[in-house]
Amino acid sequence: MRARQTSRAKQTSRLAGAATLIMAKILVVEDNEMNRDMLTRRLQRRGYEVVIAVDGAEGLAMAQSESPALVLMDISLPVLDGWEATRRLKMAPETKSIPVIALTAHAMSGDRERCIEAGCDDFDTKPVEIARLVGKIEALLQRSKMQ
Ligand code: MN
Repeated sequence: MRARQTSRAKQTSRLAGAATLIMAKILVVEDNEMNRDMLTRRLQRRGYEVVIAVDGAEGLAMAQSESPALVLMDISLPVLDGWEATRRLKMAPETKSIPVIALTAHAMSGDRERCIEAGCDDFDTKPVEIARLVGKIEALLQRSKMQ
């Protein structure tokens, strides 16, 4: 009886651990409604919780208020562009450890350098290839879990 309870407790805690990983909250900062909806649906289907912001300033505010596990940051955004929003996010003590993946519209040669300079942890190009993007998301979530 006792052994059985213990093994059930172990199973429960293992499930809780898995659920934490699966339900990681992702903040999607994207001004284009179509891209935003598509990305949200695809991420939700893979078990992520998704919160959205439609410009750089709102993205910055929601990084503070929602404490997401990771931010997907479009670069071409109104109010504050993705570079500037990321720079500010990485300057604030409360949000600087949240991993940021920049999403750029085209693989311009200077984007990797700008990405590093702004403090992004990784970047990917649009149109998004979801399997590749999820690979990058999971790598960063694993890394922040180990810290
Ligand atoms: Mn955009």
